[in-house]
Amino acid sequence: MKPCPICNGPGANKSRVGEHGLLQCRNCRFVYANATDEQIEQVNFAYDEFAEQHYREVQSGIDFLWFGRIVARLTQGRTGLKVLDIGCGNGVLLRQFQKQGCICTGSDPSPWARTCAQRYGYSVLPRIEEADIAPGTFDIITSTSALEHIGRPLEHVRRIVEILKPGGRAYFTVPNYGSLPIRLHLVKGRLVNPPGHCNYFTAGTLRNLFRQGPLAQQVASVQVYSYGIPEIHGLYQCFTKRGVKPAPGSESKPSQKLWPKQLLVNIYYWSGRPFGLGDKLEATIQKSTGG
Ligand SMILES: [Zn+2]
Repeated sequence: MKPCPICNGPGANKSRVGEHGLLQCRNCRFVYANATDEQIEQVNFAYDEFAEQHYREVQSGIDFLWFGRIVARLTQGRTGLKVLDIGCGNGVLLRQFQKQGCICTGSDPSPWARTCAQRYGYSVLPRIEEADIAPGTFDIITSTSALEHIGRPLEHVRRIVEILKPGGRAYFTVPNYGSLPIRLHLVKGRLVNPPGHCNYFTAGTLRNLFRQGPLAQQVASVQVYSYGIPEIHGLYQCFTKRGVKPAPGSESKPSQKLWPKQLLVNIYYWSGRPFGLGDKLEATIQKSTGG
């Protein structure tokens, strides 16, 4: 039985979903797919052009506004920062960093991501564990909806911290396995689909990931919050007339009336915050400045 990919503790059977079982670590309580690295890679990294259609279907205006807010929060108005986005896909987040005057790099195993990068003028590296990146390179590293697909999350986060500059910050979002709909068993297939999603974080196990071994000294601060209610996400898509989306290659036009959208984004974000029951988790970590 596969040991815990975070603390290497023994796993116990938790549930069975399709062909694959979910295991829970007896030591740190982390829930993960009982799948080999090869099975995880095959499902998660063998995507290509079809992904473009998928991204267009799942990304909505609320994501664009949300990404804008992440950029503002992480850059705090500074320009010229070196930014890496892991799992950059069609580059929506990186383009917002570009507008802020950041020097942008993506990381994505898909050849399709490189096509998008050429379109928008940033470079794409292979996965960070294999890429030739000097330690202390980046001011900001983002990883939105990626960590749940990574077979070895601890090694992945160690590498992120290594290539961050001292004092640099990394920002993660993952589905919340402690969300209200999952606690009530209202969603299964979309979010609980091993080995596509191989890591099932709660606020506690996500925080614990950044506190393993040497990371405890290398990471100065860890903030984890839940956010987001999917129903409001759906309401937003109705509100912004779903289907009217920017075609690939075109920039989304700023709306004349931004305030009602910003209000809805605020409602979306904050309604998922209380009691850690929101649809997603976000974690912001800062690398220590000393060593
Ligand atoms: Zn564990």
